[in-house]
Amino acid sequence: MIPEIDVRTLTAKKISEGTLSFSFPPEVDLLEIPFTAFEGEIAAELSYRIFEDDSVEVTGRIAFVLAGSCSRCLGEARRRFEGGVEGYFLRGEGDGENYGYTGGKVHLDELLRDSLMFALPARLLCDACTQWENE
Ligand SMILES: [Zn+2]
Repeated sequence: MIPEIDVRTLTAKKISEGTLSFSFPPEVDLLEIPFTAFEGEIAAELSYRIFEDDSVEVTGRIAFVLAGSCSRCLGEARRRFEGGVEGYFLRGEGDGENYGYTGGKVHLDELLRDSLMFALPARLLCDACTQWENE
């Protein structure tokens, strides 16, 4: 499950930063590599910081495993990938560059979706092909 950051409650308790560690099911549609699938869920390790003006900065990392056929030799391939997460949430509407949030709670779904899209590789290679490419 993707947690939300309850800015209103946190601010009332005078808490301005914290960490979130969770996993969530991948959005399968985002993966465009043939014969490849997510193995398990996506792990996220995030930190957040709430500023004086109620804007919220979220940074961290996501990690996931892809398994399937190697994009080059069609052999069995399985690899772990990581990606960065970085988002800034403004109270109210987002402004194109930053996300927005209403109701006192930051929803992380869109940020995580964007981060995952960015972290997804264009293809999946088996160990032998990765080595071959790096030589
Ligand atoms: Zn291969």
